[in-house]
Amino acid sequence: MEKVQDYFGSMVFDERVMKGVLSEKVYKSLKRTIDRGVPLDITVANAVASAMKDWAVEKGATHYTHWFQPETGVTAEKHDSFINPAPDGRVIMEFSGKELVKGEPDASSFPSGGLRATFEARGYTAWDPTSYAFIKDGTLYIPTAFCSYTGEALDKKVPLLRSMDALNVQALRILKLFGNNDVRCVKTSVGPEQEYFLIPKELYEKRKDLIMTGRTLFGAMPPKGQEMEDHYFGSIKPRVAEYMADLDKELWKLGILAKTKHNEVAPAQHELAPIYRTTNIAADNNQLTMEVMQKVAQKHGLVCLLHEKPFDGVNGSGKHNNWSISTDTGVNLLTPGETPYENAQFLLFLSAVIKAVDDYQDLLRLSVATAGNDHRLGANEAPPAIISIFLGDELSGVLDAIENDTPYDGGQKQTMQFGVSVLPEFSKDTTDRNRTSPFAFTGNKFEFRMLGSSNSISCANIHLNASVAEVLKQFADILEKADDFNSALYDLVRDTIKAHKRIIFNGNGYDDSWVAEAEKRGLSNLKTTADAMPKLLDEKNVKMLTSHGIFTESELHSRCEIMLENYTKTVNIEALTMIDMARKQILPALSKFTGDVSANAKAKEGFGKSKYEKCIVERLSGLMDDICEAVGELETAVEDLEDINSAIEASSFVRDEVLPKMDALRKPVDNAEQITAEEYWPFPTYDKLLFGMR
Ligand code: ADP
Ligand code: MG
Repeated sequence: MEKVQDYFGSMVFDERVMKGVLSEKVYKSLKRTIDRGVPLDITVANAVASAMKDWAVEKGATHYTHWFQPETGVTAEKHDSFINPAPDGRVIMEFSGKELVKGEPDASSFPSGGLRATFEARGYTAWDPTSYAFIKDGTLYIPTAFCSYTGEALDKKVPLLRSMDALNVQALRILKLFGNNDVRCVKTSVGPEQEYFLIPKELYEKRKDLIMTGRTLFGAMPPKGQEMEDHYFGSIKPRVAEYMADLDKELWKLGILAKTKHNEVAPAQHELAPIYRTTNIAADNNQLTMEVMQKVAQKHGLVCLLHEKPFDGVNGSGKHNNWSISTDTGVNLLTPGETPYENAQFLLFLSAVIKAVDDYQDLLRLSVATAGNDHRLGANEAPPAIISIFLGDELSGVLDAIENDTPYDGGQKQTMQFGVSVLPEFSKDTTDRNRTSPFAFTGNKFEFRMLGSSNSISCANIHLNASVAEVLKQFADILEKADDFNSALYDLVRDTIKAHKRIIFNGNGYDDSWVAEAEKRGLSNLKTTADAMPKLLDEKNVKMLTSHGIFTESELHSRCEIMLENYTKTVNIEALTMIDMARKQILPALSKFTGDVSANAKAKEGFGKSKYEKCIVERLSGLMDDICEAVGELETAVEDLEDINSAIEASSFVRDEVLPKMDALRKPVDNAEQITAEEYWPFPTYDKLLFGMR
């Protein structure tokens, strides 16, 4: 059998390959670009392009593509072949430095939220040498950034890289103050845990809602849901296990560090977690992972659902963004060490994150806001729409002591004992787990749990990096001027804790009382995308993001508009799909069923006993009227939506009018499903979708 070590990264133009195929001079010069951002000159680019092409052609590639991430959060690609005509009628395979470095897709077909109107339609993709090129389906994929003719970012990679730079600059200032002069660079790392559902393909194909929108728009709860709590970490069914094994293999070939896999809480739900990497690479890898997950599923006769809420009534899917900051000298700045109380540098970075999350709650909330994720946040399964931080007992104790100037005596690691002598003892983590917290400290990193399963992780990390960079800047401004560094530092940490402790909440985030408590504390609770997204343009946010060069003002306006439009369009498609299904499938099926039942009642007339038939016809006829009426109202709402031009107004209309009318249509349909003979129902029901895997 093939060994993992032998095929891991076999489709990636990584350092190992570069070293082998590039001359030493070219390799060194490329490394300088990768590690330190030194601009690449064209002779080096030519040499790299030619070597890349030879390597790719050797592996069977015929095309190359500039792979980029437009603002919709998906990936885009346009394939060009390497062929060039030779004079004798043959072709030669060519790839120049120019083609590697720059591409010119037509930007006008991608959302640009107003930037399009004012600027030229042309857009450029620029090679990102920090993310390795790879081969997929016979094509060489070159990770690129996408911007307009005038340099405005049209993608998610550019601002992500800018946010990493901003954090690097400010963190270095702080580290210098602590005497860490050997550190040359600070980077954030992310390990995104990815949740998903798997369902049989033949069932998927019978549901227009899944095909058109990725989620079920109708469906009554089956007799069994997730209440037995028997799926989480449960043994994996053979068909799913085969899928997971194949998926790991495909990801490993692409150099993706897929590490952990298990069943999740809901039936048919699973999770995959990779080993963490530098944020920019983690973002590229996660996009690729989502793509490969779907492709491998097809091969197994399955469909992988990445929607945040494919099924009502059972848990939806999220993505946990495990985030930390570390230096090029290998120090994780969020590691408390043995004695966090005495670890001033850690305490400073910790307070910076606390303040950043409190000051920019709205930015973090809106970074994960989409139509799909709105179904999760605030429901009893995902962290609520309120942002708070879980620190655990030990760190909270440390912060209390600092705030109150009292000595701290806890914090010794305790030994965990299972009470069974054959089991090994090991030292207990100093933080417990709190699965209800949206932003939890987990030992040496923070886990931001609000991301939706289909979200690009870029947005969340842009806003997180930016907010922390801003606070580090404020801290550095104060500390650089201080006469007595140590006392200024102590005051700063203490004052920060005092001012921002409202954001720390170690209790149960799913509890209703938290909503009231959070309101008392003045924390924001932005329930929907329509509420959250416009906050991007609040003066304080615009000022912060532009001052660090992460976005320009016009980029922010464009992004806000794109995200709101995306929300409105998504819900609009859902509404139209519901109308279509109700009119073309559900009502006709009900009509047929009630017709047949009435006929039976008639046939039985002479016997006088047709309680079932009469009762069913009566109830279903009532529900059909309700459905008919609800469809009409939804249609009117969708028509009215068409007349609204402003993105903000349209999104409010969707929230206040369209979504409630969709709920109003779903109710009678789900009721009808429960009393209609199975063979008449026009598409597979929840029991088959959730428990149909053999
Ligand atoms: P759990 O499900 O218990 O939260 P997992 O092991 O499934 O934990 O996922 C933890 C994730 O956190 C993994 O992707 C892991 O690589 C990542 N991780 C671990 N350490 C760090 C770190 N220092 N910075 C960022 N991510 C990290
Ligand atoms: Mg987790």
